[in-house]
Amino acid sequence: MKFLALLALLFLSASAEKSRFDNYRVYSVTVENYQQLQAIQYLEEHSDAYNIFESPHLNADTEILVPPHKFSDFEELTENLGMKAKLIINNYQELIDEEIKPSRTPRVDAQYDWVSYKNLNEINAWLDQMAAQYSSVASVRNIGTTIQGRPIRLFKISKKSGNRGIFVEANIHAREWISSATATYLINELLTSTNPDIVDISTNIDWYIITNANPDGFVFSWDSNRNWRKTRAPVSALCFGVDPNRNFAYNWLTPDETGSLGASTSPCTDTYAGPSPLSENETRAIESVFADNAGKFDVFLSFHSYGHYLLTAWGHTRVPPADNSMLQTVGNAFRTALQAVNGINYAVGPTNTVLYAASGASPDHAYGHHGIKLAYTLEMRGNGNYGNYGFVLPPQFIIPNAQEVIAGLVGLVRSARTFGYLN
Ligand SMILES: [Zn+2]
Repeated sequence: MKFLALLALLFLSASAEKSRFDNYRVYSVTVENYQQLQAIQYLEEHSDAYNIFESPHLNADTEILVPPHKFSDFEELTENLGMKAKLIINNYQELIDEEIKPSRTPRVDAQYDWVSYKNLNEINAWLDQMAAQYSSVASVRNIGTTIQGRPIRLFKISKKSGNRGIFVEANIHAREWISSATATYLINELLTSTNPDIVDISTNIDWYIITNANPDGFVFSWDSNRNWRKTRAPVSALCFGVDPNRNFAYNWLTPDETGSLGASTSPCTDTYAGPSPLSENETRAIESVFADNAGKFDVFLSFHSYGHYLLTAWGHTRVPPADNSMLQTVGNAFRTALQAVNGINYAVGPTNTVLYAASGASPDHAYGHHGIKLAYTLEMRGNGNYGNYGFVLPPQFIIPNAQEVIAGLVGLVRSARTFGYLN
């Protein structure tokens, strides 16, 4: 009995252990030919040691997290392949430690702010407080429950009846903390700003916002592994997690013209699409918002990091969508308005051709299955002339990132209205 108790204790302390990334390096590699692409894709599928931040594609840079014991292997690999590799982060753990330092300092006036990242409890308490404070126009409700029993929450703002709607989903990828920080900043602006542009979009549009579409993964990224992307559903004897943004139903696990799935069937990989479409509680919760509000939304936005992209349909095929020219025009209005704030330059275009193949992602589902014409993925700040941080964007960039994204959204709304939407 004593032994069992001791074993249980050992088990508990082991599972509470935080992954550390001391002296891990992040390299940016440029994939210039098919052989190099295949090698990186092989690492993505089969290697436990390396972490490929986003799926590689031809003629583009991919960032790879390399543990110290793989430094010489990695050097040999890139040399053999003739692949350019640039060291961009020297010690990943240092960046992680810096990131949460301010929020761990106890403050006298425990006000919610965007000076530090907030954990799930802090975000949920703030959502409750805002819904209570602005109860005539705002509400928060549960739209599902994760496998670990956490609520998936939808925050709604409606200042007058008859409005068309914008649906925002954020932080579906656990490690992309800037996405939920931006979503809460957006809620705060919509409820408190006196700027006429913000008052316009908050008064004449209904907003449905999921700040944390993947609560289990988000908590795990705080408590256990800062680099976690997926859900926490047990998916095999060895592994946890489905990539919820590869689990949506529209053309789920469908290869594009080049044969690329843009998702994986291997449970241990970061882009595992799940056992079947909409198999996960998180994706079904989002699906219920679409279903319960059929015909309500003109715009759907999926907040991610990083890379400065505004991506449209399609992810699962290289064929441009029927509304390509409108999506591009409205997207360009977003880009121009965003760039005017801090000079950040977003690329706009179809996911598959601008970035990479991705089947089962939410914007394809919103556009293809639910007919929401203006569906976009936003890839926010991470690497730029302000520094190289990837997913671990220091908290001093939360506000500049959120301000430029909101300016971009004002531009997007204006352009959408010229096409007869959001009126
Ligand atoms: Zn993402």
